[in-house]
Amino acid sequence: MTINLLKTSFLVVFLLVGYYLFYIQYEKLLNLNLNFKNEYSQNEVFKNINNSIDNISNNNDTVNNVLLDKKNIETLVKQDNLDHQFIKLEVKVKKGDTFSSILKNKNLEDKKVYEIISILKDFYDPKKLKVDDKLIFYQNKKKIIKKFEINLDIDKLLVIHIGDTIGIEEKKLEKILHKISHEFNITESLYTDGIKNDVPQNILIKLIKLFSFDLDFQRDIRKDTLVSISYDLNQIKENNKIEYQDLNYALISIDGKKLEYFKFLTNDGYVDYFNREGKNVKKSILKTPLDGARISSNFGMRKHPISGYNKMHKGVDFAAPSGTPIYAGGNGIIEYVGRNGGYGKYIRIRHNNEYKTAYAHLSSYKKGISKGARVNQGDIIGYVGSTGNSTGPHLHYEIIFQNKQINPLKLKLPSGKILKGEELERFKKEYKKIYADHLNLLFE
Ligand SMILES: [Zn+2]
Repeated sequence: MTINLLKTSFLVVFLLVGYYLFYIQYEKLLNLNLNFKNEYSQNEVFKNINNSIDNISNNNDTVNNVLLDKKNIETLVKQDNLDHQFIKLEVKVKKGDTFSSILKNKNLEDKKVYEIISILKDFYDPKKLKVDDKLIFYQNKKKIIKKFEINLDIDKLLVIHIGDTIGIEEKKLEKILHKISHEFNITESLYTDGIKNDVPQNILIKLIKLFSFDLDFQRDIRKDTLVSISYDLNQIKENNKIEYQDLNYALISIDGKKLEYFKFLTNDGYVDYFNREGKNVKKSILKTPLDGARISSNFGMRKHPISGYNKMHKGVDFAAPSGTPIYAGGNGIIEYVGRNGGYGKYIRIRHNNEYKTAYAHLSSYKKGISKGARVNQGDIIGYVGSTGNSTGPHLHYEIIFQNKQINPLKLKLPSGKILKGEELERFKKEYKKIYADHLNLLFE
């Protein structure tokens, strides 16, 4: 009986101890499991937070791939929440404002203002602040300024964080490149019709400048002149500001005569404009407007071969056989064609609002050359002869600058570069691409 009792007691104790041990183990296991679950769900949270931070900052290299502990994430999330609670205040600089007066107006302590300006000086000259410049201040709920921004450039910001310490950050704003093409007819003027067709003023000014070597915009543009252009612009993503870039392509077609230029970066590293033949927009006026000619009389004082008096010779004479073709010295408009006293058969071309060229003693005019006709440099306009006061077949050639004859041989105009060889090949590839893009944009 006592043995039985002892046995039973022992079994009970054994079972209890066994259960206890089992229970402890189980709890441990349970704990582990709980811990595991916790860790798992925390990781999920981490991931979500990371994703949302990525989405907010839109900048993968700030947070991505950095293992953050919980505390860091909490700080980041808090900071981000705070950022979204900021009130944005725009301050337009007025006459008499200084950097420190503006900061003091924003309830920043003198000491802080001094600290900000002394640190800022390494990034920005506070004296550069101009009337109408804009500063953006960010104020938290307690009306304390936490940061402000200065525009350094259309796509560049300086962000000044104000905390216990001052942090300065240069922020490059994201740009989106847009290619734009326009085509329109002129019914009034290039400028008016350009504006009507949504061409930005900035681009119209570039267009007028580009064609200033070829055209006198006051007089040459006629009704139904065709204008076709393409250009680039950058849209700044953050503030939707627009930055106009260069013209890529420009065509002005008057009565079917095409003046056409493509943008090209030359081997020397300059952006310039060339026509399909690779000739630069800045064409000089030809100094010798015919082939195989010899100068028979120079510009200057001389004894006139017919009158015998000493007289100023206001051009250059080129001796050449009768019938030798004469070329237009530059792009322009025929201003005069016909008999002109001692000049005999005479042509005058107006190139732009400063330059003209004149051709005298011609035997005949090229067919189609009439007053108002447009010619390009190198086009045949007439033929050498000996009409008017002339002793033999020659061309009397004048270059007229601001209505005064100048010595053609001393003419100093920007020398128009002509692309050759490898550079010309590269240009041809690029202009074809520019043209194809332009047509695609026009007709898409
Ligand atoms: Zn002469």
